Amino acid sequence: MVGWGIRRTLGSAVAAAETASSALSGVLEQLDQMALQVAECRDCGLCETRNRTAFGVGDPDADLMFVGEAPGHEEDRRGEPFVGRAGQLLDKIIAAMGLRRDQVYIANVLKCRPPGNRDPQPAEIEACRGYLEAQIRLIRPTILVALGRPAAIWLCGQDKSLARLRGQQHDWQGIPVVATYHPAYLLRQEQYKAHCWQDLQRVIEHLGLTPPRRHS
Ligand code: URA
Repeated sequence: MVGWGIRRTLGSAVAAAETASSALSGVLEQLDQMALQVAECRDCGLCETRNRTAFGVGDPDADLMFVGEAPGHEEDRRGEPFVGRAGQLLDKIIAAMGLRRDQVYIANVLKCRPPGNRDPQPAEIEACRGYLEAQIRLIRPTILVALGRPAAIWLCGQDKSLARLRGQQHDWQGIPVVATYHPAYLLRQEQYKAHCWQDLQRVIEHLGLTPPRRHS
């Protein structure tokens, strides 16, 4: 027989779980609505050349959120961030940390592809700013990783080189930010992979992750 005390504890645990699950479905709904709004967005010239917007992907309840620069060719074709070659490397990085892609959230500073993958322009970053701000506020990750200089400048609020932003303590509105190399850069400059892994140790520690042992 279950006593009154235990029944009350169980009852409040169930109520707390129900509240958390309805809060999460509220977040999902708001993200879905914003993705639809982004798909119709005409706030900058990139809407003229994009095929599809790449809003964001992953767990809306994630503790870890990655922020990249902008969709590339494959992301523009499929409507999802980091699904090309850089995305495949990002998936490997996530796995090396002891996580799966569906356990993190991934978004970009820009939701539309700049033609020819040119650098995002300041006016495009400003036009898109509200979407990423809203995504971070809804997901409420406990740590953010900036992939590459544009994302690092956006999240750290300092217009400096990535070399200066790496290895420093930053935060975006109280959420710790780790700045590291973009996977596309690591595909060209493999010697920096070890530096990236070093940067990610802070994330691994912060989240108490257990990376799988690597076989040589
Ligand atoms: N590079 C990025 O910054 N984001 C993507 O989604 C793909 C490549």
